[in-house]
Amino acid sequence: MLSDDDLKPCPFCNGRARFVQGGDLYSVCCINCHVETDTSENPDVLMDLWNSRNHHTELLKHFKDCLHTLHLAMQANGVEPDCYARYQRWQAFIQNA
Ligand SMILES: [Zn+2]
Repeated sequence: MLSDDDLKPCPFCNGRARFVQGGDLYSVCCINCHVETDTSENPDVLMDLWNSRNHHTELLKHFKDCLHTLHLAMQANGVEPDCYARYQRWQAFIQNA
């Protein structure tokens, strides 16, 4: 059984993480900074990825995808303060990683 309690805090902002389900696919998302893993049919794989700081490179790759998506969204919808703060936080993390 899936439980958000089995997920460690977000490696980027220490926020709470949760499983997101869309059809047959799952991902793990931080409810604070909204960084998200790639999708998978196997939530256990995602949990291992999320919880294993040794595989940070993999997470960072998805994180860069998230940053790119956010950048495009800001270009399309205009820059909202909340959105921009998140963008800056992610960008700072990537630069320091
Ligand atoms: Zn986070």
